[in-house]
Amino acid sequence: MANLNMTGPFVIDTATIDKEVSKTSAGNYALGKKNNKGGLTVQYVGRSDDDLNVRLKDYVNHKKYTHFKYSYATNAKAAFEEECRNYHDWGSLDNDIHPDRPKGKNYQCPYCDNFKE
Ligand SMILES: [Zn+2]
Repeated sequence: MANLNMTGPFVIDTATIDKEVSKTSAGNYALGKKNNKGGLTVQYVGRSDDDLNVRLKDYVNHKKYTHFKYSYATNAKAAFEEECRNYHDWGSLDNDIHPDRPKGKNYQCPYCDNFKE
């Protein structure tokens, strides 16, 4: 069973994001709707390379996603690799493309050959 290792779900609004994601940090998130078991029905996974709080605010008033879960990452590389893990673990997501690498970095996905030359 895939596991996000994230905190939440929380409502996607500015006050909640500021309260929960108070640290300026790279990190990972999942978006979707809260299900009747109190968990998150995951529809999208993403990351921020430098400020998760700011990135999550892009989704305030989103038509489709009402809740998020998140985890901090120690750096952009860790966030990238964790996003890859989430992307590959979760079968059906709205993400149409493989997670992109941080700008200017040649990190490899630990789970597939997407970036192999
Ligand atoms: Zn991959």
